[in-house]
Amino acid sequence: MRFQDGFQAREALKTHAIENGQQIHFSRTCKEMMEANCTPPCKWRCYGSVVEANGAFLIKTMGEQHSCSRVMRNTQVTYDWIAKTYLNIFRVRPELKVKELKADLLSRYKCHVSNWKLYAAKQKAIEELRGSVEAHYAKLRSYVLELLRVDMEGRFVLDLDDGAIFRGIYTGFSALKKGFLMGCRRVIGLDGAFLKTYLGGVLLVDVGKDGNNQMFPIAWAVVEVENESCWKWFLSILIEDLGLSTGLGYTFISDQQKDLLMQLQSWLHMQSTEIVQGIFIAIGRRSIKEPL
Ligand SMILES: [Zn+2]
Repeated sequence: MRFQDGFQAREALKTHAIENGQQIHFSRTCKEMMEANCTPPCKWRCYGSVVEANGAFLIKTMGEQHSCSRVMRNTQVTYDWIAKTYLNIFRVRPELKVKELKADLLSRYKCHVSNWKLYAAKQKAIEELRGSVEAHYAKLRSYVLELLRVDMEGRFVLDLDDGAIFRGIYTGFSALKKGFLMGCRRVIGLDGAFLKTYLGGVLLVDVGKDGNNQMFPIAWAVVEVENESCWKWFLSILIEDLGLSTGLGYTFISDQQKDLLMQLQSWLHMQSTEIVQGIFIAIGRRSIKEPL
């Protein structure tokens, strides 16, 4: 069997041994070779080394089959291994309890793990994820610059407080804008959803409806909280970007209270008569045909 390097080969052997309840150890390892043995009297042995011709890492010798019985407390199951293995699960469910983790390890790997190891593993996984989320926010400036480079007609705005503290990011791709203006019904749905990462925030979205009555995303923004000033910031950019001017002929749908409707009028520079004539704004479950 071939591997990219010795590290990948060792990780694969280790995971295989944990899954099968074998207590193996690496007696010799370096960049060029590795040798793994099982606990005596089991005579299982594995030897692998680098192939000089192409640099791949190859398992060259595999000794006898395991004669050992399954171990229930495998010392290879370190907190580091648990954190790495369960990283994607913690990404989706950061609230996962140690008790659940313990039960899962027992059912999946037939392995008993002490509580302190599980707490350490959870802490390590959460720290790794938090670190990565923060690192992603730190890259927003270059992300926006890259978006502007690849989509020059798009609208991408990063709103910062004092030039350093994140307030919001607006993302509007030119293809979506053109698609909405040229091929969609004149309906704009406004909604906000809480982001469930530990840094929080709210995702504000504008969606239209295409010819098949399917949802068509127009633009979205990530902001700190859902309030009037954030909606104003988001919708002012959208109104300007789509060239809605007075908003005549468009229908806005929102689950917000009447405040947003009133504000929208001022942001769109509408007269009250225009609302009746050309624009219907629906709130909650009210029919969009019913003028306010
Ligand atoms: Zn063995």
